[in-house]
Amino acid sequence: MKITDHIKRANQTLFSFELLPPIKGKSIDDIYRAIDPLMEFNPPFIDVTYHREDFIYKQHDNGLLEKVSYRKRPGTVAICAAIMNKYKVDAVPHLICGGFTKEETENALIDLKFLGIDNVLVLRGDARQADNTFIPTPGGHQYASELLEQVMNMNNGKYLHEDHQAFCTDFCVGVAGYPEKHFESPNLKTDFKYLKKKVELGAEFIVTQMFYDIEKYKNFVALCRENDIHVPIIPGLKPITNSKQLISLPKIFHIDIPELLSEAISACKNEQQVKEAGIEWMIEQCKELIKIGAPVLHFYTMSNPESTKRIADAIF
Ligand code: FAD
Repeated sequence: MKITDHIKRANQTLFSFELLPPIKGKSIDDIYRAIDPLMEFNPPFIDVTYHREDFIYKQHDNGLLEKVSYRKRPGTVAICAAIMNKYKVDAVPHLICGGFTKEETENALIDLKFLGIDNVLVLRGDARQADNTFIPTPGGHQYASELLEQVMNMNNGKYLHEDHQAFCTDFCVGVAGYPEKHFESPNLKTDFKYLKKKVELGAEFIVTQMFYDIEKYKNFVALCRENDIHVPIIPGLKPITNSKQLISLPKIFHIDIPELLSEAISACKNEQQVKEAGIEWMIEQCKELIKIGAPVLHFYTMSNPESTKRIADAIF
């Protein structure tokens, strides 16, 4: 079922979460272990991220360096199929521009339709570690909006090299939104212009980057509504689980950690206390989000369900 329909049918805030495919060499059981403890909260959908291949430099005996492509994590589509089969919930694969030509994107979408997947989260994708900035794949897309257009074309039966009115897909497409702006954007207004474009092109819901200051989410929603963006805005939530995240989260995700939270974390005497402080902060944030009518509380579990389960226990 479409995420928008899940939201329409619900008379309360829903619970959902995102998983990271495990590092290669692990098995589907690792994914199930990350899901099982959270199923009691009835998630109507579960997101699975997608990660582009990266490069490493291999040094040969003669000193020359060879750039070799490698994959760290197994396939998102296979994980989605396994989740849908085992738990009978909707799986939402993340579909990214990086690493895909338009033909490969089309093939991936044909596979997703075949599997009965109704929703996709369309993203540009992160830059590879070996590159400083995002480099599009030759023959692929530069921005999420271009990828979104391709999905919309297929929803209208327009394939890359032929029209297939009998084979229209019907994907419900979500996109990313950044309450604290995307880090490459010169300001929130410019970033917002491109978000609006994604919605005008047909995005039906927005999932936000994580935030720790609820005012940022409220302002973002207000800005969207003032600018005629009326699709559901799903808050993305990541409980802090260790003290290193005070530095790593702002560095990686370009978000602020409020002073009150950073002081609470810094005052902790050990990592267990940090975890507790992260859970406490998130419980308060979730209570407020429910109060203001957030459609879904969407947790970035990083495939570790422990803190999310504690929060959901307190909330649902
Ligand atoms: P875009 O919407 O393309 O925007 C990227 C930047 O370009 C922004 O600064 C925007 O303002 C600007 N821009 C957009 N359109 C134009 C234009 N036409 N002209 C000029 N500038 C423009 N990454 C992964 O690799 N895999 C994942 O599974 C994944 N999941 C994510 C899930 C969520 C909920 C979020 C918030 C992020 C996720 N990411 C993931 C990270 C995401 O790929 C990065 O944040 C990426 O840098 C931007 O993606 P986007 O879809 O927002 O890009």
